[in-house]
Amino acid sequence: MTAPAIQTPTARAAAQTAPTGAAPAPAAAPGTAALDEAVRRDPVGQRVLTGDRPTGPLHLGHYFGTLQNRVRLQGLGAEMFVVIADYQVITDRDIAHRLAEHTENLVLDYLATGIDPERATIFPHSAVPALNQLLLPFLSLVSVAELGRNPTVKDEIAHSSQATVNGLMFTYPVHQAADILFCKAHLVPVGQDQLPHLEVARTVARRFNERYPLPGGTGVFPQPEALLSAAPLLLGTDGAKMSKSRGNSIPLSADEDTTARLIRGAKTDAERRIGYDPADRPEVSSLVLLAALCQGRAPERIAEEIGDGGAAALKRTVTESVNEHLRPIRARRAELAADRGYIRQVLRDGAERANAVADATLTEVRAVMGSL
Ligand code: ATP
Ligand code: MG
Repeated sequence: MTAPAIQTPTARAAAQTAPTGAAPAPAAAPGTAALDEAVRRDPVGQRVLTGDRPTGPLHLGHYFGTLQNRVRLQGLGAEMFVVIADYQVITDRDIAHRLAEHTENLVLDYLATGIDPERATIFPHSAVPALNQLLLPFLSLVSVAELGRNPTVKDEIAHSSQATVNGLMFTYPVHQAADILFCKAHLVPVGQDQLPHLEVARTVARRFNERYPLPGGTGVFPQPEALLSAAPLLLGTDGAKMSKSRGNSIPLSADEDTTARLIRGAKTDAERRIGYDPADRPEVSSLVLLAALCQGRAPERIAEEIGDGGAAALKRTVTESVNEHLRPIRARRAELAADRGYIRQVLRDGAERANAVADATLTEVRAVMGSL
């Protein structure tokens, strides 16, 4: 199947209100063709930054939420940066356990799903000092009240295992603005939970440009734009957002039997007839969407075909679709896993490239701020 469509939040809102008629495959989205064309016309002018926390193996939410969009944009020629947000791990836990292992596993997942380290800069942000230094001026551009209002931070605090909330939990969205702005990214393929953070990055860019304008009235930073996919919030087996650290995910790297077991245990509802109704039947609809994305077909059609088959038939379809779709990715991952030295080299090369870009941006920032 083709990668799912790219959606800006505006395009997604339009998709949600558009008349349905003949149900489109989830890949179809208004605005996608125009954006694809913009990237094709000016690949270098459409720099892409995305990333993940090294807290566990990537899952289907990542794959359909952002990974496919990354690969798609890479294929169109966009310059790609993939940040492994290792400092962000210690927002909701005291110690980042098995950090090196999780970091290498993320790289394996990226490469297996099609991210090309020759074309994409993959790096842990802790290895890029100039990126981290941007945090200081950026923090001065947001108020404490704004930091406290962030809905994603509130949700993460609710799920945190820590007894107290640390300062990084409130300030990491500003650090994430540094992740995005150090390379002057224009496009950020993310899941829905990241939209408040993208707003922070946009605010930081705008305020920095206003406070420290360049001659001619322009600014140092572009306004980054979030790109949502057709599955911006895939639910986990418990019906909450699928997350690496909530024990509800279906990892890309799981074997077929484990995948079957996890899907068998997924929460559904009491109604026998299967339908696609994300608002009223979120758990069933998320499973239907998963099968639809794997098969490249409309979720309404999948639901219709299962009809009165109930949750057991739905889960069988989802399991077969997921395992079939992931089979080549899993095979490629197994090959790559045999050479950990290569994976570490990818990270070293990525860090070197990211450092050069971050140094240049920090030099500009210090100059406009009047630093010596
Ligand atoms: P953690 O539990 O450690 O926070 P996570 O599963 O939430 O892990 P992140 O590393 O925080 O994953 O997120 C990486 C990217 O994947 C972000 O762009 C995020 O929006 C996207 N993403 C994560 N989970 C989902 C999901 N369930 N559906 C769609 N996109 C998702
Ligand atoms: Mg998360």
